[in-house]
Amino acid sequence: MRAEVIAVGTEMLLGQVVDTNSALISRHLAAMGIEVYHHELVGDNAERLAMVIQQASERSELIVISGGLGPTPDDLTKQTVARVLGLTLATDEEALQQITHHFAVTGQPMTANNRLQALYLAGGDVLTNKNGLAVGSFYRAKHGADVLLLPGPPSELTPMLEEVAVPLLRQTYKQDEFLDSKVLRFFGISESQLVTDLAKLIDGQTNPTIAPYAKPNEVTLRVTASADDAGEARRLVATTIDQIKAQVGEYLYGFGDEGSLAQVVVKLLIDRHLSITGAESLTAGLFQSTLGDVPGVSAVFPGGFVTYANTAKEQLLGIPVGVVDQYGVVSAETAREMAERSRQKLDTDFSLSFTGVAGPDALEDHPAGTVWLGLAQRGKQPQARLLQLTGSRTQIRERSVLSGLDWLRR
Ligand code: ATP
Ligand code: MG
Repeated sequence: MRAEVIAVGTEMLLGQVVDTNSALISRHLAAMGIEVYHHELVGDNAERLAMVIQQASERSELIVISGGLGPTPDDLTKQTVARVLGLTLATDEEALQQITHHFAVTGQPMTANNRLQALYLAGGDVLTNKNGLAVGSFYRAKHGADVLLLPGPPSELTPMLEEVAVPLLRQTYKQDEFLDSKVLRFFGISESQLVTDLAKLIDGQTNPTIAPYAKPNEVTLRVTASADDAGEARRLVATTIDQIKAQVGEYLYGFGDEGSLAQVVVKLLIDRHLSITGAESLTAGLFQSTLGDVPGVSAVFPGGFVTYANTAKEQLLGIPVGVVDQYGVVSAETAREMAERSRQKLDTDFSLSFTGVAGPDALEDHPAGTVWLGLAQRGKQPQARLLQLTGSRTQIRERSVLSGLDWLRR
């Protein structure tokens, strides 16, 4: 089954709105085992839309279009699809009643073109819109491509797609192939290193496939398997994940839907009833702010310290200025002192500290990107770890926070 997805809207061509509908549609089609070969983006223009639909109908078996179902003159999708594919439009009486009712209740005047929102492709299915007025439409072609029309606003499209269209498509295209897919998230290893370490596994595999993808500050792998039944597809994915873990498991911090590194770490702390604080020089609160992004963190995070200047390190943490002067701000000793003293101050199980050079200028003869992390743990000697990072000031600070979280996770 070959499908393609078309988004209609000049606002997206102009870059004012990002086409999120097509991504969502593609994810659902992929999960159903329907392969998507093309995405198109076209403005609210009947002629160019007609060309795109014509081309799609020649090479695909299913065309999914979002946008342009509304009442305004630039909403041309239904009319254009009908014209190009030689179909007719019919009015769904139930939808028309709802539209009439809506205008009666709100007291707004109903114009003739509001009736257009009740149109669907005659001979096909009407898809109800619980968050708007324009109905969707699914037409099963006798020859040529099937067509699914969905409204543009994501708040209308999402429930229509997930609650109405997906079950309808599943029923229509009785599946002979099931897909399962999982995203693995790594930190602390580059994409090229990951691919090199897993070369044998990646090259030798066609089912499941293993596809790497680098994002800022992390690398992900998508493992996708197809099989005759859903359970078998899941088993294939699980087996491959075990093989991946055996080689690079130490860098694997979570799976696609389990959230960020901070979310993973906070969950670990909550599950184990362990508390954390932080003492930040270099990052000036970014670590604590990152913790604060995670709902429920207050159970394990009482608060912490931002100690930029040496005087603040003395006043808030009790590290004598002389000690910092002796070892240097950018030093293992200072990182350890900051971590251990902040941990003691708030009597937590852990503390992370951050001190270093965010740049662009060097500090104490250390180049930008020289960072010491400190990790204190109740009942243990505090430790320090050196990072040599590159990039902008923002990247160095972000990377420091993530490295600290990753250290804690292990
Ligand atoms: P309406 O009844 O609101 O006119 P419609 O089905 O005609 O709905 P459009 O007019 O094309 O849809 O789009 C309405 C709004 O929905 C757009 O302003 C845009 O913000 C958003 N939108 C449309 N298409 C997409 C898309 N593919 N991805 C994300 N947002 C979209
Ligand atoms: Mg519109």
